Amino acid sequence: MVEINPVEKVREGSIYGQITSLGHEQLVICYDEPTGLKAIIGIHNTVLGPALGGTRMWNYASEAEAITDVLRLSRGMTFKAAISGLNLGGGKAVIIGDPKLKNEAFLRRFGRFVDSLGGRYITAEDVNMKTSDMEYIAMETKYVTGLPEVRGGGGDPSPVTAYGTYLGMKAASKKAFGTDSLEGKRILVQGVGQVGKYLVERLMKENAEVFVTDIFEDKLAEVAKNTGATAISPDMVYDFDMDIYSPCALGATINDDTIDRLKCKVIAGGANNQLKDEEYHGKILLEKGIIYAPDFLINSGGLINVCAEFMGGYNRESTYRHAEKIYDITTSILEKSAIENIPSQQAAIEMAWSRIEAIGRVKLPY
Ligand code: NAD
Repeated sequence: MVEINPVEKVREGSIYGQITSLGHEQLVICYDEPTGLKAIIGIHNTVLGPALGGTRMWNYASEAEAITDVLRLSRGMTFKAAISGLNLGGGKAVIIGDPKLKNEAFLRRFGRFVDSLGGRYITAEDVNMKTSDMEYIAMETKYVTGLPEVRGGGGDPSPVTAYGTYLGMKAASKKAFGTDSLEGKRILVQGVGQVGKYLVERLMKENAEVFVTDIFEDKLAEVAKNTGATAISPDMVYDFDMDIYSPCALGATINDDTIDRLKCKVIAGGANNQLKDEEYHGKILLEKGIIYAPDFLINSGGLINVCAEFMGGYNRESTYRHAEKIYDITTSILEKSAIENIPSQQAAIEMAWSRIEAIGRVKLPY
């Protein structure tokens, strides 16, 4: 059986202990005194292809915290790529420090570190890293994606992420309600940032009864006005009378404080790491009969987009066609979850591993 949430158990362990227990191939520590760059690149698994994953810049409280984050995130990328049929492995980079440290030399030095791995790791944007930062990185390495459209890139991946999330929501609704039509369904979208706002547009077109919330009142009012969705206060979310809850803001919103209050039949959103404890909270959702569309699958549209860009000759239409597969994959995972009586997140991880193992065996060792 695949252990789905081993990070907690190894937090106190040695670095080698963590790498071994999570199954990583490589952890690279980069330091550059003149620019103050402290970066860590985690390569989890490259059986399917080079490890692709964004770079996150964060003022981590400790080096241990940064290592735990890069290991956890890079492992998640392995599953995301594998489940969505991409020939990519899982990797991620973290840069320790205040985002204000970023300047041309800092970012280009980071590009050099990425380049030194010879293509085993490909970087992209993540928290506190913008497309303009990728342009500096691209001056030093070709192993970067997520460039602006004017530079031949695929542009903002959020509309593709929102599309995949929408399809995953429909597949989950089919399982829960017997139909994938969202017409008349009470759907709450938490967070109307890049992904949330594009998702709301699609839901409104399908005549769903859409409710939106955000911590920024201006943004919330604007999306409500532009789309016709009803704005609610962020503190009403977990007790709200809804058919579908769509987390599109932060991770870990399904936790000990919220899980018993949720009255929905489906959870399907774009946020990463929605279950605070994948194993424990996944099991509770299963017991409560709430259909959970695995987050790393239904939000994989963004990865599909940056992957298409990296492969060259970016084509929006074929990217959307690839993202369309999310509907059928979600359906098979929910079937597996029902037949085996296991949480859908676990079913998705098992399915991702089985593809990695099968494709790993395809490659003859000469
Ligand atoms: P974003 O920053 O544009 O939007 C997030 C929104 O959530 C913001 O408007 C923010 O104000 C709001 N928010 C934050 N805390 C909130 C709270 N407690 N209650 C309500 N609203 C709150 O980010 P995004 O690009 O839309 O990404 C949203 C989520 O989707 C993130 O978890 C991200 O990791 C994940 N994701 C995004 C993409 C992508 O293509 N952008 C791809 C995969 C996963």
